This record gives sequence, structure tokens and C-alpha cells, in this order.
Amino acid sequence: MSTPATVLTPTVLIIGAGPSGLRAAAELAPKVNGEVLVLERESLAGGIPRHSDHPGYGIRDMGKFIDGPKYARILREKAAAAGARILTNAMVTDWAGARSVNVTMPEGRVRVDADVVILATGARERPRPARLIPGDRGQGIYTTGHLQNIVHLKHGKVGKRAVIVGAELVSWSAAMSLQHVKCKTVLMTTEYPKADAYRLFSGPGRIFFNTKVATRTKVTRIIGKPNVEGVEIENLDTGERKIVDCDTVILTGDWIPDNELARAAGIEIDPVSKAPVVDAALRTSKDGVFAIGNMLHPVDTADVAALDGAAVADHVLGYLRGNRPAGAPVGLTAEAPFRWVAPSVLRQNDPAPPRRRLLLWSDKYVPFPKVVLRQNGKVVAQKRLLWPAAPGRVFRIPSSLLGGIDWKAGAVSVGLAD
Ligand SMILES: Cc1cc2nc3c(=O)[nH]c(=O)nc-3n(C[C@H](O)[C@H](O)[C@H](O)COP(=O)(O)OP(=O)(O)OC[C@H]3O[C@@H](n4cnc5c(N)ncnc54)[C@H](O)[C@@H]3O)c2cc1C
Repeated sequence: MSTPATVLTPTVLIIGAGPSGLRAAAELAPKVNGEVLVLERESLAGGIPRHSDHPGYGIRDMGKFIDGPKYARILREKAAAAGARILTNAMVTDWAGARSVNVTMPEGRVRVDADVVILATGARERPRPARLIPGDRGQGIYTTGHLQNIVHLKHGKVGKRAVIVGAELVSWSAAMSLQHVKCKTVLMTTEYPKADAYRLFSGPGRIFFNTKVATRTKVTRIIGKPNVEGVEIENLDTGERKIVDCDTVILTGDWIPDNELARAAGIEIDPVSKAPVVDAALRTSKDGVFAIGNMLHPVDTADVAALDGAAVADHVLGYLRGNRPAGAPVGLTAEAPFRWVAPSVLRQNDPAPPRRRLLLWSDKYVPFPKVVLRQNGKVVAQKRLLWPAAPGRVFRIPSSLLGGIDWKAGAVSVGLAD
């Protein structure tokens, strides 16, 4: 491939202008000697909150309770005011070197050579083909992200009767967007024995949207061509199947990190979460390449993603000053019912992870979980937590538990007390 006409040379390149990338840019721009450049493939920076038009954003990072578009606007303005350069319609397509990337923009191809790269590309919901749902390929099947793009950015319409597959936080966000375009949510389905969202959402949500949540239920077929006419659902306990009439199906949750660039760089990927493996300083396995936000923990709330961006700034500044990880790495793995844990590389001298929390995904509802760390089968730390581990949302545990680790005793696992 020929060399692009334009080569940009920022000190720090941030790929993705969602909450995590914009917050990192706002923190770094005033402190870095040189340019902080943010590249965003969409025409407007802000990530998912741009089209998530309901309140619930900004609690932990801004001390506000605001809607997604407003939250995205504040983050954009803060990053720009701090001096970061944000280029939109700029899609990073591949790597041109250890910390160099190729970018496609309307003006042509650009190469960016940076001293540090921060991956902040977020996560997406798996589309229908990846979920292996049998049946017809009719019109009217969307993920929440796709739905909200149509409703809140393009001001388009969907059908009149929807089935939402999933009952986690994002599923209620989908119900709100459907209500906005007068499409009734006739049913929500979840394979779990209870709705996965916080009770605060699922209780009032059922009343507000006048909908039912079918627990222990799976969609076994989508019916209708050229347009969706219904779904077949199965009760996982009895095997009983029935047809629900609908013209719209919303596939929610079931997240996959936007990890294509990380994989292309040969960065180590967690086999379960498919996220880049990072240490507590958010360093990936490639020197000078960091990762933040929902691409690490698919998915947590936007404020937690933004606070990753705040936390990575110090570590990037340290890297630019010549600091490198010290001490042998120790792996941290998740035991059932936990699916994954982040960060998963520990070092004795590393700083605490962002917000002093380890982030996990649970496949089971456990009301007051007693979390344990084990080494060689022996419990080295434990703590009973007052908040539940629940499917459909990130479970956070205090990183102070890591204080119990014997750094000479090898790999650590995190699970529940027997
Ligand atoms: C429907 C829905 C409702 C939600 N509701 C809430 C809520 O009420 N409150 C809350 O706190 N959180 C909510 N969340 C979660 C919140 O939106 C995310 O936690 C947050 O957006 C994650 O930020 P991020 O920066 O990690 O990723 P994202 O917001 O996903 O941003 C990643 C950015 O990277 C860009 N990008 C990806 N690849 C490339 C590339 N190759 N080149 C250039 N750019 C690229 C993308 O276009 C995107 O803009 C919701 C999420 C969804 C899906």
C-alpha cells in the first residue's frame, strides 16, 4: 500500500470518542507535551449516549442525573476545551506499526504515528446471526443500538408490537425508545429465573410499559417474511412452546467488545469476554497500547467507562516519563458462577484498578455473595458483600481483597465461598 499523503504525529492517540475516550482526552490534553488526538468513526463524538435519549447518565463521574445526549455533549465540550483534537468520520482501519494506525476519512487516507495509543472502541450487542436464532429472515429485527439509531438519530419508525429479547438494564432502555415511537412492548424474555435489571427498574418498568417479563424463556424461532409476524418462545423448564404475535424483535444485551483493532495488533484477548487482557494500570500486552471503557468490561455504565478514562491518564503520563511495569505478572481468573474478571493481570507494585474495583460478570443471582480469592486451592482473602451478584450487569468487588495475595504463590482465582 502507498504511503498516505497526510501523516499526523500526536503524542497520544485515542481511538473512539465515547465516554471513556473523551474523558481520557479531557484529562490528558492539558498535561501532555504534544497533541492528544481522538479519532471517531461516527459524524458526532459521544459514543452510545448520543442516541440513548433517557436519563441515567453522569451519576458517578459528574454527580448529575442527565440524559445520554446531554451527557455526550458535556464530555465533547470538556475534551475540546481541554485542548484535545477530535476528528470525526475518521475510522481507524488497521495498524501501520507498533503505535501507528491507518485511518480512512472523507478527505482520504491518513496515517497516525503516536507515542501512546489508547483503545476506547466500546462494545456492541451481538446481532441475530451471531445468536443463532432459527427462523425466517424478515424485516423488523434490531439490536438496541440499531433501534436507538433509527429512533433518536434518524427520527425513523419501527413496528407497532415488539418482543424484547433480554430483561437487563439495556432492555428497559429499548422499551423506552419503543414507547417513544408508539411501539408497544408486548413481552420481554429472559433465560434467567428473574429479570436481570435492578429491581428499581424491572418493578416500575413492568407497570410503566404495561408489559410482562417471561422468565426461563428462550426465543426458538422468528416467524414472518418479508416482515416479522411473530416469535416462538419456549419455557426452559417445561419445554412448552407458544407463538407471540409481533412485528418487531429487539435483541438486547449479549455484548461483544469492539476488539477488531486489538486482535489485529496481536494483543492478548480474554478467551471468555473477548476483551483485551489488561493489568490494573489498563496496559494491554503491547507496549504503549492501553485499553479503557466497555471494550474491557462489556458492559458497565457510562460513568464507570468515563472513570476508566480518568484513571488511565496518570498511567499514560507515567509511560511517557519512562515508567514501565515492574515485577512478575500473576494471572487472575474467574471461577463459576463468574464468567470473567477485569483486570486479569496483577503485579505486586501496580496501582489499584480504576475506582478500586475488580469487575466481574455473574451467570447466577446471589443476594449477599461471599467473594473469595484462592491460590493453589487455598482461600487467601474473602469478603461478604452487601450487594448482589446478578446476571445482566457488571458485578463490582473491592480491589482491597488483592491485599491477601501471596505474590510468590502463582495464579489467583476469584469465586464464591463453598
Ligand atoms: C441502549 C443503551 C442504554 C444505556 N443506558 C445507560 C444509562 O442510562 N446510563 C449509563 O450510565 N450507561 C448506559 N449505557 C451504557 C453506556 O452507554 C456505556 O457504558 C458507554 O457508552 C461506554 O462508553 P465507551 O467509551 O466505553 O464506549 P462507546 O460509548 O461504545 O464508544 C466507543 C466509540 O468508539 C468508536 N469506534 C469504535 N471503533 C472505531 C474505529 N475503528 N475507529 C474510530 N472510532 C471507533 C465508536 O463509534 C464509538 O463512538 C447504555 C448502553 C446502551 C447500549
